[in-house]
Amino acid sequence: MSKPYQNLIPYLYEGVYVVDKKRRIVFWNEGSERITGYKASEVINSHCHQNILQHVDENGKHLCLEGCPLQHTLDTGVIHEAHVFLKHKEGYRIPVTVKSIPIHDDDHRIVAAIEVFTDERFQRDIYNENIELKDKLKTDPLTKIANRHFFDFHLTQRMEEAKRFNRPFGVLVFDIDHFKKINDTHGHLVGDEMLKIVAQSLVSNVQRTDTISRWGGEEFVGVMDIDNINDLHKVAERLRNLVKQSTYKLDDGQVISVTISIGGTLYQPDEDSSTLMDRADRNMYASKSKGRDQSTIT
Ligand code: GH3
Ligand code: MG
Ligand code: MG
Repeated sequence: MSKPYQNLIPYLYEGVYVVDKKRRIVFWNEGSERITGYKASEVINSHCHQNILQHVDENGKHLCLEGCPLQHTLDTGVIHEAHVFLKHKEGYRIPVTVKSIPIHDDDHRIVAAIEVFTDERFQRDIYNENIELKDKLKTDPLTKIANRHFFDFHLTQRMEEAKRFNRPFGVLVFDIDHFKKINDTHGHLVGDEMLKIVAQSLVSNVQRTDTISRWGGEEFVGVMDIDNINDLHKVAERLRNLVKQSTYKLDDGQVISVTISIGGTLYQPDEDSSTLMDRADRNMYASKSKGRDQSTIT
């Protein structure tokens, strides 16, 4: 396989492996390791018909010796897709969709085949989670952005992803400065309008893969698709400045604005959500005690 593609394949969620004409395994990506439990070093150079994964169909019929999708592709050059069950290293069966694709040399001779396989349990999890999400996905009635319930759900999901796929993320906690004064000076309804403005400035200025939710009161939280402190700090500062530059116009023409204090941190592998959020919260309070209208990211 050519180098540039090979650099990307390890990061796929799917399992990808390549066999030569004799069905000898010559490439095995991290996705394959994750799904099957076998390390590349354990399978490279062995033959897939040595029954490593022991693919069976739903009747329990073994496909490795008879009806091997890879062999079929090597023989015919036809891309083959099948719904089969492989055997995890620990011995249990996993439902997978396998797709075998031929690899040709310059003379169009089939020299190898690539098998891409997807763990169907994961797809099913996502499907179930989506249904659950639909039930739980409640919008905050005032600001119309995601609410705390959504945040809790999303954070749990994101932590799972970080663990499973080594996909880091960060969280931000936002608290409006001296918000009580807005209510006291202009009334609760104006306070509500200001909350909507802040919510919109936050959700409008993050990437699609980030989510901002209203935690409650005048506090917001963000789950950010960011893997380093520097970038998290940059985003926090951008949001802080954009909120500061947002305004609400009162009936008498007067224009008001608020500032926010921000705390942020990166998710540390294996920590629980309260440890994570406590750290972000402490950082937010550090911003408050340093004089407000700033961000503290550690
Ligand atoms: P600090 O800078 O320390 O955060 O000061 P603060 O005044 O923002 O903090 P505090 O927690 O004392 O007050 C938060 C205020 O936010 C009190 C409450 O009246 C107001 N608030 C919370 N939820 C709402 C809401 O839904 N609408 C309005 N208008 N105000 C709200
Ligand atoms: Mg508060
Ligand atoms: Mg406040």
